Amino acid sequence: MADPRPKILVVDDIPSNVHVLSRILKDDYDIYFATDGEKALDLVQARMPDLVLLDIMMPGMDGFEVCRRIKADPAIHDIPVIFISAKSEVEDETRGLEVGAIDFITKPISPPIVKARVRNHLLLKRQTDLLRSLSFLDGLTGIANRRRFDDAMAREWRRCARSNLPLSLIILDVDHFKAYNDHYGHQAGDECLRMLAELLSGRAKRPSDLVARYGGEEFVCLLPETDGPGAVRVAEGFRTGVAECRIPHAQSPVIPYVTISLGVATVIPSADGSPEQLAEMADQMLYRAKRTGRNRVQDAMVPAL
Ligand code: GH3
Ligand code: MG
Ligand code: MG
Repeated sequence: MADPRPKILVVDDIPSNVHVLSRILKDDYDIYFATDGEKALDLVQARMPDLVLLDIMMPGMDGFEVCRRIKADPAIHDIPVIFISAKSEVEDETRGLEVGAIDFITKPISPPIVKARVRNHLLLKRQTDLLRSLSFLDGLTGIANRRRFDDAMAREWRRCARSNLPLSLIILDVDHFKAYNDHYGHQAGDECLRMLAELLSGRAKRPSDLVARYGGEEFVCLLPETDGPGAVRVAEGFRTGVAECRIPHAQSPVIPYVTISLGVATVIPSADGSPEQLAEMADQMLYRAKRTGRNRVQDAMVPAL
């Protein structure tokens, strides 16, 4: 499928200026426009444009302030802003760049230059977005990596603390995986991890559930708004799902197939508590599952931290 057309927000209090810019750009991009700062900020939130072309002098909130607010909000601060302004003093340009704009174009504009700069900045934005999304993926399995998990954990911790909802965590580890590698080879080990990642991801159903590779042959599953019994059900589903795949593991003392052990912990987060305590508890439960025979789920209900 072709990429959707990039979206550009044009902000200028003089409609004819908006019109000129949209005429230059509308063949290649989807154009939105606003004629004051407040509307511009609303549209940025609602449409998530790929680029904002921003006038400086506007009645009410001026362009510097609009830009400053965009750059101060983590949800939208990655959207590049280009000032397009008749103000051409060095101080204006400097101030524009200081509040976070990526470029500065002076009026009267030259259509080919506007086109070229817009194209370059959109290309850069696309590359940056791609790199950022890759930096959150595990290279071997293609699922979320540890960094993405840590981010989601911090976010969900705060969200569940605000709404007084339980947050559950499953940590799981492949049983006797060193023996698997020794017997079948490292390539087969990698392939096995890929299969497990796919299976686990397919079984975590809610949009806010997150399965991630925690490291080595360990995976985690974050389950917001899920209580202890609910999390144990998901964990049991993982365990039986893996066992039912019947991936041969001739060297395993458990059963001759690949199995996993799982630790589950649940907490109703408090604003001043820390996610690490939840991870530590799940890890202790995993250790207990290993000690008591592997291929099993061990759970703990953690008191509010
Ligand atoms: P246990 O049941 O106690 O978890 O035993 P184990 O052998 O799984 O545990 P151990 O921690 O001793 O060994 C983990 C092994 O996992 C070591 C390493 O060979 C393997 N492993 C870790 N990461 C990867 C990986 O990315 N690819 C492959 N193929 N193997 C990995
Ligand atoms: Mg292991
Ligand atoms: Mg391990």
